[in-house]
Amino acid sequence: HAKISGRNQVCFFDASMTRNLVRKKEIEAELRAALQRDELSIFFQPIVDLETGRIRAFEALVRWFHPEKGELRPDEFIPVAEETGVIITLGNWITAQAARACAQWPEGVSVAVNLSPVQIRAPGAALGILTALRDAGLDPSRLELEVTESLFLDDNQHTARFIDELAAKGVRFALDDFGTGYSSLGYINKFPFKKIKVDRSFVSGPNVGIKSDAIIRAVAEMGATLEMDIVAEGLETIEQVHTVRNAGCTLGQGYYFSRAVPDYLAAMLLAQELESPPSKRLVG
Ligand code: C2E
Ligand code: MG
Ligand code: MG
Ligand code: MG
Repeated sequence: HAKISGRNQVCFFDASMTRNLVRKKEIEAELRAALQRDELSIFFQPIVDLETGRIRAFEALVRWFHPEKGELRPDEFIPVAEETGVIITLGNWITAQAARACAQWPEGVSVAVNLSPVQIRAPGAALGILTALRDAGLDPSRLELEVTESLFLDDNQHTARFIDELAAKGVRFALDDFGTGYSSLGYINKFPFKKIKVDRSFVSGPNVGIKSDAIIRAVAEMGATLEMDIVAEGLETIEQVHTVRNAGCTLGQGYYFSRAVPDYLAAMLLAQELESPPSKRLVG
């Protein structure tokens, strides 16, 4: 252990921290190169109407197919992209790809894009989104931006301006991973969310039961009153679909319906739906 003491601070460096730093630098350099080399792609996961079984939207989820490391999940590289600022270029690219894909879908189907707080705080963030929409010829009302509560931890003025500017153009906002952060009702009161995505930890895992059920029910009731869609994330079984539908969730997303798929498969799912409208088969 090397130990460096400053006036009021003590830092410890050890081999694992050095390794982490090296790995971070590595990922940053590779991420910049990957963007050039076309190793990234956007996959799309259906968000399904629990009443009709119809696909109402797709969530765009980024994937990195690394030549040596194989498929990398966003959890492995988005944090690095955020720390290094690469997320700004990457995010613009993701929004552009998502808008272009959505422009090919029937008009009733929208696309949801995850936004990192770092992206939103960057100058010109709203313009970047509007440019992507214009270039794709996509109506702003078909774009949904998913943000998490971490966005509101600081600089609320800039955030409010960003949201208001885009909302005024018709872009919709969704509060993602609800129930994992502060879950402050103040954010719901203050910002024009059209959708709340209840985190999948309320749907499966050790904390699921009578209590989680009651919480989903309460959120769904609020959603109904405020005319917001309540989405249940992480639905893997028909039993979970039934539970959240009975609790009042209007939309569902999860492996039970489909994993995230490449754009041509997303288009196929929609074509299939046109040919044979979903019976209760999807939602039981
Ligand atoms: P998220 O926005 O909450 O996305 C949902 C995640 O849950 C996705 O993981 C999805 O594949 C996964 N998922 C969906 N259905 C199921 C299910 O039934 N069971 C289980 N176990 N998992 C399910 P993914 O694609 O690995 O993304 C992880 C997170 O990374 C996302 O969480 C989002 O916060 C972030 N992310 C993904 N794509 C982007 C992006 O383009 N930009 C930004 N800024 N963040 C992204
Ligand atoms: Mg999301
Ligand atoms: Mg989520
Ligand atoms: Mg989540």
